[in-house]
Amino acid sequence: VQYVYRFGGGVSDGGKGDKNLLGGKGSNLAEMASIGLPVPPGFTISTAMCTRYYEEGESFPQSLRDEVANGIAHIEGVTGKRFGDAADPLLVSVRSGARVSMPGMMDTVLNLGLNDQTVEGLAAASGDDRFAWDSYRRFIQMYSDVVLELDHGAFEEALEIAKEDKGFTLDTELSADDWRALVAEYKGLVEEQWGKPFPQDVHDQLWGAIGAVFGSWQAERAKVYRRLNDIPHTWGTAVNVQAMVFGNMGDTSATGVAFTRDPSKGDNAYYGEFLINAQGEDVVAGIRTPQYLTKDAREAAGAKAASMEEAMPDAYAELAAVFDRLERHYRDMQDIEFTVQQGKLWMLQTRSGKRTAKAALKIAVDMAEEGLISQEEAVARVDPAALDQLLHPTLDPSAQRDVIAKGLPASPGAASGAAVFDSDTAEKRAAAGEAVILIRTETSPEDIHGMHAARGILTARGGMTSHAAVVARGMGRPCVSGAGGISIDAKAKVMRVGGGREVREGDVVTIDGATGEVMAGAVPTVQPELAGDFGTLMEWADKVRRLKVRANAETPLDARTAREFGAEGIGLCRTEHMFFEAERITAVRQMILAEDVDGRKAALERLLPEQRSDFVELFEVMAGLPVTIRLLDPPLHEFLPHEEAEFAEVASAAGVEVDVLKRRAAELHEFNPMLGHRGCRLGVTYPEIYEMQARAIFEAAIDVAEKSGAAPIPEIMIPLVATRRELELMKAVVDAAAKQVFAERGREIEYLVGTMIELPRAALMAGEIAEVGEFFSFGTNDLTQTTLGVSRDDAARFLTTYVERGIYPKDPFVSLDVEGVGQLIELAAERGRKTRDGIKLGICGEHGGDPASIAFCEKVGLDYVSASPYRVPIARLAAAQAAL
Ligand code: PEP
Ligand code: MG
Repeated sequence: VQYVYRFGGGVSDGGKGDKNLLGGKGSNLAEMASIGLPVPPGFTISTAMCTRYYEEGESFPQSLRDEVANGIAHIEGVTGKRFGDAADPLLVSVRSGARVSMPGMMDTVLNLGLNDQTVEGLAAASGDDRFAWDSYRRFIQMYSDVVLELDHGAFEEALEIAKEDKGFTLDTELSADDWRALVAEYKGLVEEQWGKPFPQDVHDQLWGAIGAVFGSWQAERAKVYRRLNDIPHTWGTAVNVQAMVFGNMGDTSATGVAFTRDPSKGDNAYYGEFLINAQGEDVVAGIRTPQYLTKDAREAAGAKAASMEEAMPDAYAELAAVFDRLERHYRDMQDIEFTVQQGKLWMLQTRSGKRTAKAALKIAVDMAEEGLISQEEAVARVDPAALDQLLHPTLDPSAQRDVIAKGLPASPGAASGAAVFDSDTAEKRAAAGEAVILIRTETSPEDIHGMHAARGILTARGGMTSHAAVVARGMGRPCVSGAGGISIDAKAKVMRVGGGREVREGDVVTIDGATGEVMAGAVPTVQPELAGDFGTLMEWADKVRRLKVRANAETPLDARTAREFGAEGIGLCRTEHMFFEAERITAVRQMILAEDVDGRKAALERLLPEQRSDFVELFEVMAGLPVTIRLLDPPLHEFLPHEEAEFAEVASAAGVEVDVLKRRAAELHEFNPMLGHRGCRLGVTYPEIYEMQARAIFEAAIDVAEKSGAAPIPEIMIPLVATRRELELMKAVVDAAAKQVFAERGREIEYLVGTMIELPRAALMAGEIAEVGEFFSFGTNDLTQTTLGVSRDDAARFLTTYVERGIYPKDPFVSLDVEGVGQLIELAAERGRKTRDGIKLGICGEHGGDPASIAFCEKVGLDYVSASPYRVPIARLAAAQAAL
């Protein structure tokens, strides 16, 4: 097997199709080299080696040593320099690169190949002492940090002291001799902390770095990131070794990062930052404030420092041409790293750029309209889950804002919460249900868990491509970065803003990731705009999808929201939610407390008009669309008080003695209510409840038909059915109510009676059940609970561990267990259809709004999915993608 793949100098052993083997970075370097873009030569050690490295007890086979030697020879051949040559040394960078970009892994070692001899050679060959020693100290610093894992604080401190001693503020003010002295100090620090001198053999350096890249795949931070992002632990990372080019060779050199379009708003304009006389990590680390790429952007920001377009017009023009070439080649927005070495442009990376949901939408729609991609591709490009970001509220533009600081609009959306100054606190307070805003000077991969727990992120330092900005955009968290006017004392847990004001831990702040504003207190929000690009993409999605999308909704407000989001009916109206309302709960309790049928009927009589008016409103909002109404499902005990303190009041409201209430509550107590007296079992024992509900539905439907002329088609659904006979009995109750109401009103309407399939027995017996039931709706919440034997209310405690240990790939209550529960759905669909040709099939469990589960529903040919109102657009897009 081959593990090393070369690129550059007219050679490309791989290409963009080799992402799995070469990682994103490696495959794209090979691709760029193959289309003739200026890429420094190098080679990639494949992800297969990473897997083998772990299989063989973290060691390398001899064959890899030979292949790496060939790889180095390739770079030497193209550059004409030799690795370890004391006169004119080849220097290389070593970077990790998995299939997807992954913060949390070892990132980069630059300037590898420098030692006490080669540094002199570099100085002589470049004619620049200062550059050579600056490079050497950078190398020692980075290598010590990421490969030797020494405490980097000590190195930073030494640098700060060196600057302070001279009265300097910028690194660029230090001379060759200053750097030389610092190198000596750094080497001392290494020996002190590591117990051995800094490695002088360049091959030892290289293997150390390669080992560190593979080792970082299993670092705790990397594992956390993979878990949060559903990245399999088996993928492994590749290692890229590449000839160095230098952005720190004086004022004709520079380094930068760029996007071919705005990754935050999606505008079709180059977007990026660069620094003259600097190396890559200077831009990302946010130590110096980067300059704008284009004149327009600089002017828009009112910045003084020249843009790249102005400072280096030739290199900029070449870069702009490369941007256009890359976009046309990859047919997507690209995220690019480049270096200019003494006027010559070099490309160090390209990849599909991470973007906000808003930008993803705009870029997909724009590119389709530009003719670069098709409408179907545009539909396929937008991650349905990311739409969530757009569907949630933003700050009310007319609300009062007490702006206390301003930074960069790094990731859109607005969030309010309690200020916290470290990630552990963020996680703790968020776990306790509090909304928090994480405030840091800058973030690092160690903050991933805190960023995930926070509603929003605020940093004092760092640009639009800083760690905080990139990660927040990926996670869909609002973020304001580089708020220069604030100072943060993380130890004292306080943020100081202008005017002597302070924000302490727990104080509520609001950030607006669209404007970069930071405000004291909470600011009210408004609903999102659903027209524009969003509307266009949804239209395209609707053209290709087959599955219908309905909503789970009970209240007129939810139903209206669902319609605005494009719901094509209601797939589940849980009628019990209507019973909990303050004015009705007393009648519900009287019904439960009644000693006999007559008592129950009297109480139900009082509930009837309330239920009827609920249904009238729903039918009106959903005019002309199907409305599935599920009859009462939960155990009656849920409607009685549980706290001693409530008993007296509830008893007096219901007009019974406290003792009676307590006795009845005790009688209704169940050890396992989810498997107890609920669902159609209530209807079997107390048919008058279902009778009242059915009557309310028919009366409401006729009321609406008489008023509007258009009769709704109610689909009446019986919950928790396990046998044909149960459904038969319940259907008889419903049909009898229909007959009576139709006779009373002198008018008939169409209706269906169907069942939920939410018990394994129902799925197995679907063929018989379909003899009675006119439709099926898969209740995958209960079906998951009963198939896995895992309580949906108690699973949280152990399911995370189950997912971590690979027992289930994802939480089966969030994403359908396709392997197991999926079989029951498939089988029930098949048996149901065999009995009743074309039987209507839907899903109304939480999975109806989960893209992966929707893909499964498409595969088994269900007719519709039903999701909570805010997930309706997600479901529409996911259904379209499933159909493509
Ligand atoms: C289900 O079980 O999937 C369902 C939709 O019903 P509920 O969540 O109300 O039990
Ligand atoms: Mg259920």
